[in-house]
Amino acid sequence: MLKQISLWLALSAVLTGLANAADYAEFTTPGLAKGQITHDDIAPLIRYYQQQDWLEVTELGRSVEQRPVYLFKIGQGERKVLAWSQMHGDEPTATAAIFDLLAVLDAQQQAQADKDKDQDNSLTDWQQQITLYLIPMLNPDGAARNSRYNALGIDVNRDAVALQTPEGQMLMQAAKQIKPHYGFNLHDQNRYHGAGDNKKPATISLLAPAYNEAREINPSRHAAMQLISAVKPMLDKAIPQQLGRYDDEYSVRSFGDTFSKMGISTVLVEAGGNYNDPFRQQARQLNLKLYLNWLALISSGNYRDYDLSGYQAIPMNNSGGMKDLIISNISLPKADSSGVLAKVDLAFNAGGNGRGSVVLDEIGDASIYGAYHSVDASGLQYSAGKAYPLTKPLTLNTARYIQLLAEGYSHFSGKPDLLTNNSGLPVAINPPGVKSRWPQRRSSTTFLLSNDNKVQLAVVHGRVIRLADASLLDAFGGN
Ligand SMILES: [Zn+2]
Repeated sequence: MLKQISLWLALSAVLTGLANAADYAEFTTPGLAKGQITHDDIAPLIRYYQQQDWLEVTELGRSVEQRPVYLFKIGQGERKVLAWSQMHGDEPTATAAIFDLLAVLDAQQQAQADKDKDQDNSLTDWQQQITLYLIPMLNPDGAARNSRYNALGIDVNRDAVALQTPEGQMLMQAAKQIKPHYGFNLHDQNRYHGAGDNKKPATISLLAPAYNEAREINPSRHAAMQLISAVKPMLDKAIPQQLGRYDDEYSVRSFGDTFSKMGISTVLVEAGGNYNDPFRQQARQLNLKLYLNWLALISSGNYRDYDLSGYQAIPMNNSGGMKDLIISNISLPKADSSGVLAKVDLAFNAGGNGRGSVVLDEIGDASIYGAYHSVDASGLQYSAGKAYPLTKPLTLNTARYIQLLAEGYSHFSGKPDLLTNNSGLPVAINPPGVKSRWPQRRSSTTFLLSNDNKVQLAVVHGRVIRLADASLLDAFGGN
């Protein structure tokens, strides 16, 4: 009963545009808070919804590797909305949010059915105005290999014109049959996008895609911009200075732009990074909130009260504006070691969704960037450190390793299998790029930072170890 009351409060809040994402925490579908979501993860959910009578679930078609792609149909209103997620297989956040939306609607339906036991019509308000079509995970083959592309290596979102992929054909066929008035084009963007000059990540970026090279605004694009203007206050409150506007350069082969050209009011949602949120749960909750708000706004038509100023005030995405780790104010030694040559910042990124190798991305003035993690190295001097030769078996515990680092060894040389690392800390064996007196772009991720010839911090493959307490700053767990 309590759950039902809180649901009604939450839903009435949505309809008045006041809902908080936290209101929906209880509808977070379990098992989807991870960096990669595959068809196997959603198959049991699809089976559950196939058994519910308040929506229709049909197989839209099959991927290259014959994985099924599903179309969910909810409601019976005249205004049609088509939303699709994970057309890029390695962009799963909105797929999770779509199942959260279904969980909200499922609970809403149960509550409504209890209320209307003796009445025929158990549709909720918006479902009389809107028919909502959802395609969760358009590219299950890409999802299976955690790849942007489909099984043929084709970017489905560059296939809107040529339609060479079954996945692209399915989406276009759905759009042509359904003839939606509104489209939600749901993606993830890399976590290095900042929101304008805010030095903060763009946790959500939005766009009303262009329909021609001139980026003109026709009535359908105007409506998409209004939908974005209408949700800006909610996002500004939820993620201050972390809302971005995606580049609107016309992309003739993309679905968003092509649907815009077809007269569908299309909004692009890009889920982005956030601090200490490797699986993008903040962006996931905000996606859900966006869908609920947009359904309410489309149902009521109230988005038409908004002008474009909100949309236009959203700062542009700042590509590369965020770094994984910035170590600032590092003193570099003079060539003759007689003193300090310069104080510089080092900015690091990690590839492979944060699980790949770390690279030194920039040396110098990193003050224009934001960072997920930052270390102030004022008073600390750079040195590459010495190699500890592996000539016989060596077992490292934490104390022994810290002792070696303190003695000026940053890495090991020789046969890797001679080293048994029980320290719980990263080690570098034969790392490239450690011989130089100064850090080198794209390579130096293993070095020492010292004051008065006392090593304070060791950076090993980009992981920062503080010698004082043997603690590790792992800045690269992000997604
Ligand atoms: Zn994408």
